[in-house]
Amino acid sequence: MKCFYDHSQDAVGTCKSCGRGLSSEYLTDMGKGLACKNRCEDDVRSVITLIDRNVSTSAATSQILKRASLTGYGSAVFLTLMGVIFTLTGLGEPHIAFILYLGIGFLAYGGWTFVRAYRYAAIVAKLPAARGNNE
Ligand SMILES: [Zn+2]
Repeated sequence: MKCFYDHSQDAVGTCKSCGRGLSSEYLTDMGKGLACKNRCEDDVRSVITLIDRNVSTSAATSQILKRASLTGYGSAVFLTLMGVIFTLTGLGEPHIAFILYLGIGFLAYGGWTFVRAYRYAAIVAKLPAARGNNE
């Protein structure tokens, strides 16, 4: 690959921001990546900061996703329990159909919430483990 800025020179690397091939004369080494000299340094610095931040927070993110998954199951159990209570109460009070309809609604929503929580947990389980994540 040739240098984007001087086609007579071979590129020794690529800019982490724009991907252009760079010769040693037209690059700035930013430590964790190369940048076009006097053009892409700020963008590359931002990309490096973003990557560092993602690496440092990925363990916490995994924990948050797993807790959200457990919250989904908890919601499903609560809704289903409310559905059972209202349905049984509604069956015992046939003159107040609203209670039975409420119970059926809770049961349906609880079942749907359980399916969503199960699918979400399957997605979270497939995520790669973060560095520093103590499972
Ligand atoms: Zn660049």
